[in-house]
Amino acid sequence: MDVILSGLSLLHEPDEIIEIRSIDPKPVISGYFRADSPAIAKELSRYPNRTFYQTMNRVKSACYAREQHERLVERPHETTTDGDIAGYQWLLIDADPVRPSGVSASREEKEAARRVAGMTMKKLMAMGFSEPIVADSGNGYHLLFHIHASPKEKQVLADFLAVLDMWFSTEQVKIDTAVFNPARITKLYGTIATKGASTPERPHRRSGIIRKPEKVEATSMTLIRNIAAERQKAVSPQENPRQRGAASSFDLDQFLSDHHIEVIKKIPISTGTKYQLAECPFDSSHKHGDAAVFAYSNGSYGFHCFHNSCAGYHWHEFREKVDPTAYANSPYTVHQAVSTSVPSRAKPGGAEGSVPAVKTGQPRMLDFAEIPNYDRSKIVVIRSRFQALDAKIGGFNKGEMTVWSGGNASGKSTLVSQIGLAAVTEGFKVAMFSGEMTASRVREWVLLQAAGPDFVMQDPLNQNHYCLKPGIEEKLDAMLTGKLSIYDNDFGTDWEVVTNTIYDWVKKNEASVVIIDNLMALDIPTGSMDKYDMQTRIVKRFSAMAKELNVHVHFICHPRKTEAFPRKGDISGTADITNAADNVLMVHRVNADFMMRYKTVYPKLVIEPDVSTVIEVMKNRDLGIVDEIIKLYFDRRSRTMSDVKGLPPQHAWTEKIEQMTMPGFTEVDDPDLPKEWR
Ligand SMILES: [Zn+2]
Repeated sequence: MDVILSGLSLLHEPDEIIEIRSIDPKPVISGYFRADSPAIAKELSRYPNRTFYQTMNRVKSACYAREQHERLVERPHETTTDGDIAGYQWLLIDADPVRPSGVSASREEKEAARRVAGMTMKKLMAMGFSEPIVADSGNGYHLLFHIHASPKEKQVLADFLAVLDMWFSTEQVKIDTAVFNPARITKLYGTIATKGASTPERPHRRSGIIRKPEKVEATSMTLIRNIAAERQKAVSPQENPRQRGAASSFDLDQFLSDHHIEVIKKIPISTGTKYQLAECPFDSSHKHGDAAVFAYSNGSYGFHCFHNSCAGYHWHEFREKVDPTAYANSPYTVHQAVSTSVPSRAKPGGAEGSVPAVKTGQPRMLDFAEIPNYDRSKIVVIRSRFQALDAKIGGFNKGEMTVWSGGNASGKSTLVSQIGLAAVTEGFKVAMFSGEMTASRVREWVLLQAAGPDFVMQDPLNQNHYCLKPGIEEKLDAMLTGKLSIYDNDFGTDWEVVTNTIYDWVKKNEASVVIIDNLMALDIPTGSMDKYDMQTRIVKRFSAMAKELNVHVHFICHPRKTEAFPRKGDISGTADITNAADNVLMVHRVNADFMMRYKTVYPKLVIEPDVSTVIEVMKNRDLGIVDEIIKLYFDRRSRTMSDVKGLPPQHAWTEKIEQMTMPGFTEVDDPDLPKEWR
């Protein structure tokens, strides 16, 4: 009984009204209680062998006055409906093994569900989701992500689950797509799950919460909406010009075999069929089913690859990559017809389908209704791999610029080089300028960070120094070569030379990330122009480079004064710099000075003793995030920071290990998964 009550206190506020219900076998039994009510234990003890469920979301307080007030009633007149819910607070993901209806799961079936739930959890957390509560449902596994959302978001959650179904469901285990409605009930964790007869092969099991985060934090609805939007990106044959009037003539199996695309497995999902591909057509290192094609029962198609560098690729991009002649004209004609969903809309100026790089002609003023919608699906986001930061700002968008600042020894260089490694891990190429260190010193630094705490050891010759374990360096070199290049300071640090060199390299190598560490290390000629005007010019040049080459530029600027707790106005000499930036992130080292001062700006913030560093989000243009604090923990050995205490960042190296040992996202034996999962 204690297990049930502690589970309730994890899912609900003490004064929250909840409904507890049992539905099978008849009669239905229901009661409304305060979540901390002592009556719950007493009432449940009257029905020791029944499976009970609970409402997950916030029940309107008026329901408390129903006949089953603080007691369980058989055959109640009313139970909770969607209209009785004030808001969502839990998003339930239910990984349930496929089995004959009305029986409990076998051990093998349950084991398969565990793997799917573990994979789902891991991938979502890697995308920035906060850690969920994990529960054993008796027959499968539940992930409960804390959210704040209005009941009006029902369709978003329905779409979200449909996308998870297509991403994660296997032949043996399905992600339940029906559990999105606000009044949805879940197991009252701790009660027994009694489906069918209890046999040795298919026993009745007790449900229970098996894992919970140290602190329950809400997952941003932006992340959920972005995934839900994938649902809309399936393309129906009518939208494909070549198939107009001949929708049935396109044969996916034929298409894949004609173009030598190897399919590992075909998996039926609730909305159609998933074709897991042996290799992603956009990057041959994305293997083992990380990429998949979807054939929906309504005749439309989709494509998805789990790697962030492929996030912008959907069916059209896939088909065109595999068959460049698929769309006779420019692909843009197709994209626009799909993304604006108003095909009759006239395009101002220019020949149909042509998109000139610089616009000429008229009109220069756009009528409001003619302005194309902002298409979020075309933004490529490069994650920082700090879950807390990615959850807040989504990651770093290509075509944008982030300005980093912070006092001396605040850790900003450490952080930004780690962000560069994260980008490599995500499959992007990175160009770096580090004005205060030689390339060899940067290399030493980056190697330690890339190795991580598990692959470094104390230097036998110098107790204060850490070095790589034997054999690691070669592996890291193999991984980073071609992906990370550092400007050679021996060629001088004249700002124009540095800028032009990086520009050319990025263009030639199709890189996606530029790191400039830092503005003051660039040699700026002191001529007719004011120093601050020159700095402004340089920053604007990098901002323009970000847009032109579609890269993300990370730019480090020292604050003017180096005392503790610098503010936005202290960054360099001019407000133009922060105005030009899409993100402004201030890095603070948590020292005595910081501890004395931060309360003046963040009176409610609590800094735990182990926190070494914080990132303060001062500006985020895309989502309008401001005044958010990300707490970080420093690992001295590998010089890495992590936003999860005791857990080193997931960097390129572990990813590599993962790829070697992990046969794709349907069959996991994953060393990164928490112990309980293995
Ligand atoms: Zn891919």
